[in-house]
Amino acid sequence: MSGTHGTETSAGPVLGDTPPEATSATGETGDNSAGIAAVGRVARTLMPDTGVIEDPTQLRTYECDGLAHYRVTPALVVLPETTEQLAGVVRACAEHGVPFVARGSGTGLSGGALPRADGVLVVTSRMRAIREVRRADQRAVLEPGVINLDVTRAATPEGYYYAPDPSSQQICSIGGNLAENSGGAHCLKYGFTSNHVLGTELVTPQGDVVQLGGMAPDAPGYDLLGTVVGSEGTLGVATTATVRLVRLPEEVRTLLVGFHSTDDAGAATSAIIGSGVLPAAIEMMDALAIEAAEAAVHCNYPDGAGAVLVIELDGPSAEVQHEYDVVERLCQEHGSFELRLAIDATERALIWKGRKSAFAAVGRISPDYIVQDGVIPRTALPEVLRAIAELSSSSGVRVANVFHAGDGNLHPLVLFDDAKAGAGEAAEKVSGAILDLCISHGGAITGEHGVGVDKAAYMPKMFTDDDLDTMQLVRCAFDPAGIANPGKVFPTPRLCGEVPGKRKHAHPLVEAGLADAF
Ligand SMILES: Cc1cc2nc3c(=O)[nH]c(=O)nc-3n(C[C@H](O)[C@H](O)[C@H](O)COP(=O)(O)OP(=O)(O)OC[C@H]3O[C@@H](n4cnc5c(N)ncnc54)[C@H](O)[C@@H]3O)c2cc1C
Repeated sequence: MSGTHGTETSAGPVLGDTPPEATSATGETGDNSAGIAAVGRVARTLMPDTGVIEDPTQLRTYECDGLAHYRVTPALVVLPETTEQLAGVVRACAEHGVPFVARGSGTGLSGGALPRADGVLVVTSRMRAIREVRRADQRAVLEPGVINLDVTRAATPEGYYYAPDPSSQQICSIGGNLAENSGGAHCLKYGFTSNHVLGTELVTPQGDVVQLGGMAPDAPGYDLLGTVVGSEGTLGVATTATVRLVRLPEEVRTLLVGFHSTDDAGAATSAIIGSGVLPAAIEMMDALAIEAAEAAVHCNYPDGAGAVLVIELDGPSAEVQHEYDVVERLCQEHGSFELRLAIDATERALIWKGRKSAFAAVGRISPDYIVQDGVIPRTALPEVLRAIAELSSSSGVRVANVFHAGDGNLHPLVLFDDAKAGAGEAAEKVSGAILDLCISHGGAITGEHGVGVDKAAYMPKMFTDDDLDTMQLVRCAFDPAGIANPGKVFPTPRLCGEVPGKRKHAHPLVEAGLADAF
């Protein structure tokens, strides 16, 4: 995977009250080595030596997440095994004004887990216990480092599974899923992570341990759990997640449908959902994405297809049969020329292999590419896909489309060759223009990969100053010192003492050249 659009800075400025050390224009505090050393000493009293990493070579292992374009070596890495250890480290960070960044498996695609050179990286990979699978409650209680797919593996013998299924589910962590409100192919029917997390134990940026939500639904008061899910590690560190388990379906049918164009496939998608049938998944790939997948995994998709849909139906057998009849008819009415139903698990796996390998497969047809992530209302799919095709032909930059069509969650893959002068810049321009298209069609700058460091600069395109100020008030309510994953999500530093609303004069930090204006 190669670079992406966005700023060249590795991490933004520290938010909130200025910590003990002065803040620089790049957001890295000045020399806070004394603070780091103090946190390191505390960490060593709390956990075994192997849980505290200070060796520069080992620290480099953690320098980036899935967005490898941005790299920063953290000052200190800790690998706690318990909530108490993790809270103790965060408390020490708060005491010494040291920023910290939570990290699960580091598969994020927006630089959310990008470390701070002046901060501590809190890695949850040693907190991997599945504490409970409660069949009667249809719940599981998980530590944050638990791998997504392991939840389903643990629940399957009980007849249940965990529905949110990011394509990275074999490696990504539940804590990362919670922080990113991750999606996946089957979130069309079952909802995103936010619909499945019912409670979390949170270590606040002050190092306190609080419980939000839990086994029982609908806690009274403000929905703080809803605020924390999707907050990208800026409001604290989740040390448990209580999640909903879903009954394994009686029947699953996977269909591969060939269309001549993305227009037809998009119209079929809208018609299916409009009919009242809600498939577990509807995924689309265009001709370029199919070409890449064929080259990589020989998935045997229909010859000459301008687009394919992978549609999965699940539920009680009688219902699946009815839905299958409706979907078959609607696909035909919208110009499908081939419909294949997987007859067994092997065929089903091959259909999914083409789709799931698509990102990596693009490497077969282009040396470099940007994975973009935006979302639009489903009905805007044909129009936006046409506009992306126009952007591509007018700029000469190839774009492959592979995405969660049912959710309108686009993943355009913008192809380029970094060895050619100006190619990277041209690709970034197209990639940014695609986000503009998403916004102008009533969508958003990210469907599931989060804002992180990558898309912070796009936030003002979607939100007004007042919107962003209000979000800052929420952030500051949790983290007045601004030490939890600073520099992520928001484009400029905003101080917690700052009065939100329209400003008559430039912010002092802007005047001092320390921050950009919105
Ligand atoms: C090949 C590939 C396919 C992908 N497919 C999908 C997909 O289909 N859908 C999708 O949504 N995403 C997808 N992703 C993106 C990524 O896997 C998800 O965002 C995932 O949820 C990140 O989990 P992680 O454990 O790797 O988190 P990390 O990358 O380690 O962290 C992500 C963010 O969460 C924060 N964080 C981590 N743990 C905690 C915690 N315990 N408490 C508070 N904050 C925390 C971090 O600070 C960071 O901001 C894909 C990535 C790859 C590489």
